[in-house]
Amino acid sequence: MEEILNGFTGFAKKNSGFTMPKNARTPEGTVVAFGEQELESIDDRDRRWSWVEINLRAIQQNTLNIKRLLRPDTKLMAVVKADAYGHGAVRCAKASLSAGADWLGVSTVNEGIELRNAGLNAPILILAEPPMEAIPLLLSYRITPAVFHPEFAIAYGEAADRHGMRAPFHLAVNTGMNRIGVRHDEVLDFMQQVAFHRALDLEGTFTHFATSDCEETFDFKIQVRRFTEAINAMKASGINPGIVHAANSAAIIRYPETHFDMVRLGISLYGFHPCKETRRLIKLYPAMTVKARITEVKTVPMSEGVSYGMHYRSPGSVKICTLPVGYADGYRRGLSGRVSVVLAGRRFPQVGNICMDQCMFEVDLRSQGGMRRVDPRIGDVVTLVGAEGDAFVTIDEQADICGTIQHEIAIGYSLRMPRYWF
Ligand SMILES: *Cc1c(COP(=O)(O)O)cnc(C)c1O
Repeated sequence: MEEILNGFTGFAKKNSGFTMPKNARTPEGTVVAFGEQELESIDDRDRRWSWVEINLRAIQQNTLNIKRLLRPDTKLMAVVKADAYGHGAVRCAKASLSAGADWLGVSTVNEGIELRNAGLNAPILILAEPPMEAIPLLLSYRITPAVFHPEFAIAYGEAADRHGMRAPFHLAVNTGMNRIGVRHDEVLDFMQQVAFHRALDLEGTFTHFATSDCEETFDFKIQVRRFTEAINAMKASGINPGIVHAANSAAIIRYPETHFDMVRLGISLYGFHPCKETRRLIKLYPAMTVKARITEVKTVPMSEGVSYGMHYRSPGSVKICTLPVGYADGYRRGLSGRVSVVLAGRRFPQVGNICMDQCMFEVDLRSQGGMRRVDPRIGDVVTLVGAEGDAFVTIDEQADICGTIQHEIAIGYSLRMPRYWF
């Protein structure tokens, strides 16, 4: 054992195999032969051959198309939580605001701060009640909380009062999803408990639908009825509910009667249909494209396997191409052997298990019924998500294969790949 360790230490002392002049090393151990600027100017796409492109015109167009479904006085909240579902919160917020969005929706205090630090001035709502310790941040950065615990409301009001500020909040109402919120039939009790606090301002009242994207509408209708009743009860006892809002993407497109004073647009802002029912109702443009360059092309002899487990065997008449994209980049392992990529305007099957950082696909070299032969080369650009010519791969089909929703797949692609906005 000791011998092995000694051996290892001896090896480690050599540091690495790079040779360099004695005086060319910084104290940190890097080499000064290349200028800092020269190093920084090497684009991320030239450091690793995979990246994500976000089309901000699509974000703007989707905002406009959704706005056309609203009454002129209905406000639009762009939900840019989770870094805008992987699309980049600041850029997408700016794009959507420029096309007419009024509010921004986030999930965490830090997401709100990021928007403020980028100079965005629009009202921001956190779609959750943050820990009480975060209250000074809410007040300093003008981030409006969703509120449903009286203790939070009072602490928030008192903190504001101490600094001569107002404490605006949106009351979250639980109408049946049972995630957050005051129960729909306890809204008046709640308001009575916090009414004495002079700094608190009820700026809005909202609920969230659990099944607006489902075919079955039974539970959806119950939620709408409970919410409407709660709002009416507030008004009847002299409480102004402020901005009333409920609809997420699916409800915005399918149920105009749930628009109230504001709608909260998430997944469809990024160009996705929340369910098949919305396809005939609105045109949406997916904003995200995932691309990579081929790093290796080879002919694999017939019956030799490809990738971990060798679940794929070469038929001999194909070229196997390698891409630097893996499940650590959000290219889910569950897609292995069940998804396609686009090269030169044609779809080709991904083959073998998707690895952590790489994956392979197959190009059949036999001439195919009049179709032009594709001869893949190292450096060729491949589309993993998006369209090229008539061929395309969608996040929708990848979500279906993985048995999940587009939200989860889209967010995955922002894990490690650099993003470019245009
Ligand atoms: C995420 C979220 C939305 C947006 O939902 P989509 O289905 O993506 O449009 C709206 N409201 C709340 C409370 C949310 O958490």
